[in-house]
Amino acid sequence: MHMDIIIKNGRVVDGNANPWFQADIGIKGEKIVEVGDLSGTDSEKVIDAEGMVVSPGFIDIHNHSDVALLVDGRAESMVHQGVTTVITGNCGNSPFPLIGDALEDAVRSYGSQYDLEVDWTDMEGYEGRLLRQGISVNAGVYVGHGTLRKAVMGRDRTELTSADLEEMKELVGVAMAQGCFGISTGLGYFPGMYAQTDEIVELAKVASRLGGVYSTHCRATHTFPHNLMEAIEIGERAEIPVQMAHIGSSTCQRLNWGRARSVTLNLVDAARARGIDFTADIYPYTISGGGLMMYVPEWAQEGGTDRVLERLKDLDARKRMRAEVDEMVRHRGWSQLLLYKLSSEKYRCCTGKTVQEIADAEGVDPFDLACDILIQEGGRVPFMGMFGIEEDIQALMRHEAVMIGSDGTAMSPEGSPGGGPVHPRNYGTFARVIETYICGGVLSLSQGVHKMTGMAAWRLGLRDRGVIALGAYADITIFDPSLVRQKYTLTEAPGFPDGIPHVLVNGVLTIEDGEHTGAKAGKVLHNQRG
Ligand SMILES: [Zn+2]
Repeated sequence: MHMDIIIKNGRVVDGNANPWFQADIGIKGEKIVEVGDLSGTDSEKVIDAEGMVVSPGFIDIHNHSDVALLVDGRAESMVHQGVTTVITGNCGNSPFPLIGDALEDAVRSYGSQYDLEVDWTDMEGYEGRLLRQGISVNAGVYVGHGTLRKAVMGRDRTELTSADLEEMKELVGVAMAQGCFGISTGLGYFPGMYAQTDEIVELAKVASRLGGVYSTHCRATHTFPHNLMEAIEIGERAEIPVQMAHIGSSTCQRLNWGRARSVTLNLVDAARARGIDFTADIYPYTISGGGLMMYVPEWAQEGGTDRVLERLKDLDARKRMRAEVDEMVRHRGWSQLLLYKLSSEKYRCCTGKTVQEIADAEGVDPFDLACDILIQEGGRVPFMGMFGIEEDIQALMRHEAVMIGSDGTAMSPEGSPGGGPVHPRNYGTFARVIETYICGGVLSLSQGVHKMTGMAAWRLGLRDRGVIALGAYADITIFDPSLVRQKYTLTEAPGFPDGIPHVLVNGVLTIEDGEHTGAKAGKVLHNQRG
């Protein structure tokens, strides 16, 4: 048979945790059609992978590029690290269904942040827009509970009625029928934080019946282990597979350092032994990222950003918040909140400094400073900082039910969001797993690759991706383990990693010799278990 592309001489790691083997790979159209010795076969193009690993393209099961893909479909920071599929709609936040307050907020925030016009309301419309514009990676989506709640119940903290619940259940059904992979929650964020466990269970049951997964950013870390126990309970009661998001940053906090094995993973193992299909993802860093808004107490978040800003200006309300905020921040400390992307006149110059450093320089209390910055920046104050220790990250990452997810967003140094510091996970997650954890001996090559490919495909029921096999889509990443380096920096924009010269998406070379070819061969993936 005549091939379109042959990848020669590589060490094939198949994504199913089998040991690597030497083989050539033949690609025709968008599929892998041969795996073996292809020395006598001719081909339009030959890629020599001598000395390199030929792996399935990485599947980022925890990604936030929903809107980023509409702003810049090239998904540069993702595809340069070998990612060929992103799963978005995470942490309760999806780009649909857009009705009511959910539509109003989307129009406002996508418009002001990205100058993006909203011309869709549901998964189908969002998918159509993605495909019209073109994307360089495949994308699958969860429907977000926070978005559902805003769509049906608005921004106020009102009591859930049975009519609200029925409406949300119906919307989950529509999203699943349109191809979603399940439902996600963001129970540490507004407005997901207002939901009781029962509400989530009822919605998760709908997703479960339609072949979905429950992906959860659980309640705030300082509530551990109750946040983990609630995720397990929801899996048990709704009879749905649970994918716990960024299990490191959700469960590790100062008071529990060194207890990932003895506490967190014991709970996970006990749940799995009881028959709950519980898995998790982790990003390979001891620093997490978030927004200062997540430290505003629940009662003060009612009504959304505008109302929060009013309360921050009201000194009585601020006084009421202080103790609660101090309690939440105590677990990491103001000195572990490094701020970036500040844009207001007053605080622009403070990018790259911690809340504590800025407060000390200005001679003010860090809590008051945080309130003032939130007001000046209109509520959008991203931070990153250390939350945990390496020992715990490694224990979690080694566990058989834990896979890799970046929690990042596709970006580009020239495009959105431009230069300046961002969390290194956006550019380096998968490169770091290779460089530090596989080459460092924490994970074997086949296990590490499995956690970035086949395991995620299995979790999502993707039958023809995440593996090197006959008939699978030719999503392929070629890397040289000895040369893979992420560009790690907290003070400037990280660059694309080295050592990952070729990436194919659906049989199309998207990174060639380290350069993005401009190809947009990505598809929108649909749940195959529906
Ligand atoms: Zn999250």
